Order: sequence, then C-alpha cells, then structure tokens
Amino acid sequence: MRQDQEDPYQRRSAQVYAAADRAGSGSVASPRAVLYDAVLLDRDGTLIEDVPYNGDPEKVRPVPGARAALDRLRAAGLRLAVVTNQSGLARGYFTGEQMRAVHARVEELLGRFDAWLVCPHDDADGCGCRKPAPGLVYAAARELGTTPSRCVLVGDIGRDVDAAMAAGAAGVLVPTPVTRPEEVAAAGWVATDLPAAVAEILRRQQAVQPSNPPTEPVRTALVVRSDSAGDVLVTGPAIRAVAAGAERVVLLCGPRGRAAANLLPGVDEIIEHPLPWIDPDPGPVDPEAMRSLSARLGAVGADQAVVFTSFHQSALPLALLLRMAGIDRIAAISDDYPGSLLDIRHRVPVGVPEPERALSLAAAAGHRLPDGDEPVLRLRRDAVPPRPADLGDPGYVVLHPGSAASSRACPPEVATRIVGALADAGHRVLVTGGPHERAVTARVAAAGGTDLGGRTDLAGLAAIVADASAVVVGNTGPAHLAAAAGVPVVSLFAPTVPFGQWGPYRVPTVRLGDAAAPCRDTRAASCPVPGHPCLSGVDPGDVVDALRTLAVSGGGGR
Ligand SMILES: [Zn+2]
Repeated sequence: MRQDQEDPYQRRSAQVYAAADRAGSGSVASPRAVLYDAVLLDRDGTLIEDVPYNGDPEKVRPVPGARAALDRLRAAGLRLAVVTNQSGLARGYFTGEQMRAVHARVEELLGRFDAWLVCPHDDADGCGCRKPAPGLVYAAARELGTTPSRCVLVGDIGRDVDAAMAAGAAGVLVPTPVTRPEEVAAAGWVATDLPAAVAEILRRQQAVQPSNPPTEPVRTALVVRSDSAGDVLVTGPAIRAVAAGAERVVLLCGPRGRAAANLLPGVDEIIEHPLPWIDPDPGPVDPEAMRSLSARLGAVGADQAVVFTSFHQSALPLALLLRMAGIDRIAAISDDYPGSLLDIRHRVPVGVPEPERALSLAAAAGHRLPDGDEPVLRLRRDAVPPRPADLGDPGYVVLHPGSAASSRACPPEVATRIVGALADAGHRVLVTGGPHERAVTARVAAAGGTDLGGRTDLAGLAAIVADASAVVVGNTGPAHLAAAAGVPVVSLFAPTVPFGQWGPYRVPTVRLGDAAAPCRDTRAASCPVPGHPCLSGVDPGDVVDALRTLAVSGGGGR
C-alpha cells in the first residue's frame, strides 16, 4: 500500500492559519502536470530575510527576486504554501496576533499563499510538526488537496530538506551563509537562490511533458535498459509512459536486470542480452553475438526505439546496431556527438532523479504518463508472489545489508549493531540478502533478527518488502523495491553517486551516512577509502530515531 495516500500525522497538531477559504483555489494546469501540484516554502531565510523571532511586520524583507519567482510558480498553476517553524510562539517571544501581522505583510509583498502551516512548538515539545519532522508537509499537502509526493519544498537548512524527504516530497536546499556544509553535502537538490530553485522546478516539470507528440502512432516501441535491477526499476515510470503511447512494448535488458524487468508494468515482451559497453564486468565483444542481437532486434519490427542509460553510459553503440537492424526512429540521451545515429538526441543536466531523467527522454520521444498514473515506481501485482506465511504479520522492519557493489553495502559490523538496536526498540527485524550474502545475513541476524539470506529471488524479496513498515538499506535494488511498494526507507547511502539521482524516489526517506566522505562521486564499486567511513560511522540509535521520524513504531505488526 502506498504511504503517499496515507497520513500518519493526521491526528497531530500542525496549526493552519488563514487557509481554509483559499485551499483549492489554485488552478491546476491542463493536462495535469506530471510531477508537482504544489511548492512548499520555508519562511525565514528562504522567502524573507531571517530576523530571529520577528513579531514586527516592518522588519519583513523579501529575499531578492522572491516576488517574481513566486509569480512564475503561480502562473504555471502551482499552488503555494508556507511551512514554517515558529518556536517563538512557544517561547512567548511574540504572539499569534503579531505573527499573523507578519504574515499579512509577507503576502502584501509577495502575493497570496494558498496555505500557511506553522509549527508553534519548541524542540522540547516532541511534536510531529516541527521540521525536520514531516508533519507540516503532510498537513500542507492535505490543505492543498494533494499528496506529499506531488509537492516540492524549498528551504535554507537541512531541517527543511529532511522534513520534505521524510514525507516523500522533493526538497530543494537554497543555502545561505548559515547553512552548514554537511547539510549542503547531504541534500540531493541544491539551488543557488530562490529564483534558481523556481527555475529548476519549472524546468523539471516541463521536461517530462512532450513538446512534440509523435506524428504517427507507435505500434511497437523497443525500450532498452541494460545494467542492474535498480537501474531497470527506476526506468519503470518512463517505460509506462512509452507503453501509454505505443500498442506494444519490447524491453531489451541485460542478464543482471532481467529479474527486475519481469516486474515492470507495461512490458509486453523481454529480450535479454548483455551489452559489453554497459556491463561492469564485460566479456570480449563477440562479433557473431552482436550480429545475432542486431538481427533479433530487427525482427521486433519496432517503429521507435528509446534507449535509456545512466549518465556515464553511452547509448551510441546500441544505436548503431539498431540502425543496422533497420530501426529509423531512435531516441537517447547523449552528451557525445551522435552524428546520424539518433533522431532525438536528448540532454539532461546532472542531479535529476533517474526516474525523471528517463521520463524526460520518454517525453522527448513524444510520450507522457497518462493522467492518473503517478510518476512513482510500480511493480506488476501478478509478478509478485505471495509472502511466505511463516514470516508472521506485516509490520516488520527489513534490513538489507548487502549490495552488488561493496562500496554501497552496509558494513556487517554496523548492520549487526543496527539489528540489536532495532530489536531493543521493539522492532521485528528480517535480514535479507542474496544467495552469496548468506554468511553476512546469518551473522547480522544473530544480533536479534530473522535471517532470510538467500531465501528469495527478487520477486520474492519484493513481496517481503511490500509488507514491511520500513526498509533499512543502502543504495541498491531493494531500496527501489521499497519505493515501488510505498514503504518508507532508511537510506544508508554511500555518496559514490549523487543522492539526488539515486536516492529512493517519491517515498518517505531518512538519509543516514556521511554524505561528504572521500568516496563522494567516485562511482567506485568497492570502497576506495580504508574503513568504508561513509557508512561505518552510522549510529544504530540514529536508525531507531529515523524510524520514529517515519512514524514506524516498535512492536510492529499489531
Ligand atoms: Zn510542532
């Protein structure tokens, strides 16, 4: 069940001011925008200069370019809400009346907002709305008639981004001189100022809308995603978009992505073949195998091919094979000059989430998700088997310590301590892993969990993940299975690749680990730094706290 349809904070006490008469008054673009309905804005340091505990309307100073930037969002049909911590209320530094006068002045200068959501509490109150808790984001989404995953929050400190992520919303950090460097390092999306954040929100929103719908109908589309399970899963929304515009979809995948390909909706037929220019451990190029692949692809009879790749992979060798197979419409992302290999050469700036990057290529090829199909990861229900009955009720926490790339795996000694801490906090823990990870899962589970190492294939793991209350996992395939099931993720994210591109997509998430560790952006498959410092310093108590932030309580299953 998807969490973005639910609201674990429904009964909490975020306060809503001057909102009820205006909620829903914004016009929604037609056709419905694919990515976002609403932009949530932090107040102090983001919309207006930060004057600590200000109760004086005369001291309100908008940040440069704020009015014009907000008007651009309004013109694009996006609804706007302010989400702000005002602990000065709890501390008695100003009254509610003074605060409303400040907000009236903000609206005088910046135009009207569709909702104002204020946390009046102090840290000591332990409320569910003070950012980084996600309560204000849930409340704002509800006020605006949408879901957190269709919201993007702009703020100037880590608490803002963390609140957005914990609700499954996107978060943009606009650093100021008071923003700490570790907050900047941890943020998946950073903009230089508010107008730049707004420009990028609108650019991303636009990039997934086709500007040129195909002139002729597509009967058969060939879509391509080589590489591993996670890569295939994050391409799912784009493949569904192609499927919405084509009568038949054939997917070419590699052997390591086959099990994930079997789980994708919208795919009518799968061709499995390794591509030696994509595979991380390639065999020699076999001319006969390439000729037979080309012939097989030609036999598909595709009238369009869309080749999805990661930013460090080239689509061009396959484009040549597709040309040789007689396919005349080929679209791919390529910074390298493609000559006549591509009809649609698409380019994407760095930092865009992989699912959106792929959706933008689908859009360039003329396809968009149909209304009602959210741009979330999804799996075919009929491809996921029933969960083994001996695992007990749903509501357990899954800990998946391994990864195909050891640089992205949780060190076993850390995973062991996490299991112990979770068990002490009353969580039921299932430890999962592949057949070659049995030694690790057995050792880790011995600290207080149930060892499921080697017990499932990918589809079976998807079934177990779907009934979890949360998944604790590195940057690897099961994180995306959790996203597909709407199950919150505690992401032990090694920063070898950008979090903004590869973090769990549109699902409540807490990121842990050192985002500024020396392995950052190295793309290393095995950790280049002695001691694997990005994840070896994760405090098991932080995992317990993260679950609390995600509203996952111990004693799950009841
Ligand atoms: Zn609060």
